[in-house]
Amino acid sequence: MSTKNFDVVVIGGGPGGYIAAIRAAQLGFNTACIDEWKNDKGGPAPGGTCTNVGCIPSKALLQSSEHFDHANHHFAEHGISTGKVTMDVAKMVARKDAVVKQNNDGILYLFKKNKVSFFHGRGSFAAAKDGVYEVKVAGAAEELIVAKHVIIATGSNARQLPGAAFDEENILSNDGALRIGAVPKKLGVIGSGVIGLEMGSVWRRLGAEVTVLEGLPTFLGAVDEGVAKEAFKQFTKQGLKIELGVKIGEVKTSKKGVTVAYANAKGEAQELAVDKLIVSIGRVPNTIGLGAEVVGLKLDDRGAIEVDGDCKTNLPNVWAVGDVVRGPMLAHKAEEEGVAVAERIAGQHGHVNFNTIPWVIYTSPEIAWVGRTEQQLKADGVAYKAGQFPFLANGRARALGDTTGFVKFLADAKTDEILGVHIIGPMASELIAEAVVAMEFKASAEDIARICHAHPSLSESTKEAALAVDKRTLNF
Ligand SMILES: Cc1cc2nc3c(=O)[nH]c(=O)nc-3n(C[C@H](O)[C@H](O)[C@H](O)COP(=O)(O)OP(=O)(O)OC[C@H]3O[C@@H](n4cnc5c(N)ncnc54)[C@H](O)[C@@H]3O)c2cc1C
Repeated sequence: MSTKNFDVVVIGGGPGGYIAAIRAAQLGFNTACIDEWKNDKGGPAPGGTCTNVGCIPSKALLQSSEHFDHANHHFAEHGISTGKVTMDVAKMVARKDAVVKQNNDGILYLFKKNKVSFFHGRGSFAAAKDGVYEVKVAGAAEELIVAKHVIIATGSNARQLPGAAFDEENILSNDGALRIGAVPKKLGVIGSGVIGLEMGSVWRRLGAEVTVLEGLPTFLGAVDEGVAKEAFKQFTKQGLKIELGVKIGEVKTSKKGVTVAYANAKGEAQELAVDKLIVSIGRVPNTIGLGAEVVGLKLDDRGAIEVDGDCKTNLPNVWAVGDVVRGPMLAHKAEEEGVAVAERIAGQHGHVNFNTIPWVIYTSPEIAWVGRTEQQLKADGVAYKAGQFPFLANGRARALGDTTGFVKFLADAKTDEILGVHIIGPMASELIAEAVVAMEFKASAEDIARICHAHPSLSESTKEAALAVDKRTLNF
C-alpha cells in the first residue's frame, strides 16, 4: 500500500465534496478527493447522488417527458399537428445516461484543471496521530492518504420502508425509478415529497396511472399553504391520484407486481395493486464504512455527523458538509457548505446563509420558494403584508401558453423587508433567483417593485407581486 501526503482530503465526490476539493485546491492546498461511485463499466463516476441518481438524471427525464406531454397535448393549440406521438423509453433513458456521463466527465476534467488528486474507492479513517489523519482508500488499488484536514461529504441514501426492502425491480428507490425500462401501466409512489412528485410526474406524463400515498394529513406541509393548495389542484387535474393521511401496511411483491395494503385517512382498509412501486419517504445520512468509530467521530441520533454552525465536527480539523449533516438535503446547500469549509480552512470567513436557500420542485407547474411561508410567519407572530399576482395576467405567460399559478410576496408589515417569496408556475425555478438575491441583500418589496423588469417576461409577475404588497398593480 502506497502512502501519499496531502493538506486536505475530501471523502465523497458529490456536490458537497467535489466543490470543496476544487475550492481547497484553488486556495493553494494540496488536495485529494476520494469517491467510490462506479459507472456501469466499473469506472469512476464522481458527482454523487446529485449527478448519478438525483438532480441531473431526474431533470433529464422530466424534460423528455415534458416534451412528450407537450407534443401530445399542447402542440395543437399552436397549430402544429403531428402523427401519433410515440415514446422510445430506452432512448430517453440512454439520453439521460449520456447527460449524466457528461457531468461525470466534467468533474474529472475540473479535478485535473484545478490539480485535485482523485482516488476512486472507499475512504475510511485508519488512524489519527501526530496531528494528522490517515485515511485508507479501498479501490482498484489500496492507498493510504495522510492529511491534516479532512472534509467528509459522504451524502445520504434512500430510506427503506420497513418490511419492503428495495429490489430496484419492483420496489424502487430513486435509483430504480430513474431506470424503469418501459412505462408501467400502474405506478405507486409512497411519499409525496419532492422526489415522489418529480418521479411520479415523469411516468404519469408518459402514460402511467400514478397513485401517490402520503402518510401525513397535509400535502406539501413545508410549502406555503396557498401554493400547496394550488399544486394539489393542478396535480389532481393532471391525473395524479394523491391520497393523504394513509397508514401503510404490508407490501407484497409477486410476478405480477406489488400490492400495498394500507388504511386510508378514515381508517378503512385498502389495497393498491401496481406494476412498480417507488418508495420516496426521505433519505438517511450515509456514514457506512467511514470508520467514524476508529477516530471517535461523533454522530447524532439520526446517524448524521454532528457539526456546529461552521461544519466543524467534534474532531480537530475534521469537517462535514452536505446531506451527511443537519439542514436541508439539497445539492446547492452542500455546495455552499463545501466552499465555506475550504475557505475556513484557509482562515477566511466562509459564508452560508440558511435563510436564503432556495427550494425547487421541478414538476409542472414548477414550485419554488425562499424564506418563510405564510403559516410560519403566523406561527412566529410576525406582522406581515402579502402580495400575489397570477400568471394568468402576464402577457409572456399567455404567449407561452402556460398561465398556471402565481407569485406571492411576504414582507414585514413595518419595514417592508422581504420575508418570503413563493412561486408556482412556469419557470419558477429560474424566477426564484431574483428573490434569493433580493433577500440576501435585505431588499424591501418596494425595491423589487421599483426595479425595471424586461417586457414581456414572466419576471414581471414578480414585480407585480411586490407591488401588490402595497395593494398596487400596473398590469405589465
Ligand atoms: C431523485 C433525486 C432528485 C434530486 N433533485 C435535487 C434537485 O433538483 N436539487 C437539489 O438541490 N437537490 C436534489 N436532490 C438532493 C441532492 O441530490 C443531494 O442533496 C446532494 O446530492 C447531496 O450532496 P452530497 O455531496 O452531500 O452527497 P452525495 O451527492 O450523496 O455524494 C456523496 C458521495 O460520496 C460517496 N461516498 C460515500 N461514502 C464514501 C466513502 N466512505 N468513501 C468514498 N466515497 C464515499 C458516494 O458514493 C457519493 O458519490 C435530489 C435527490 C434525489 C435522490
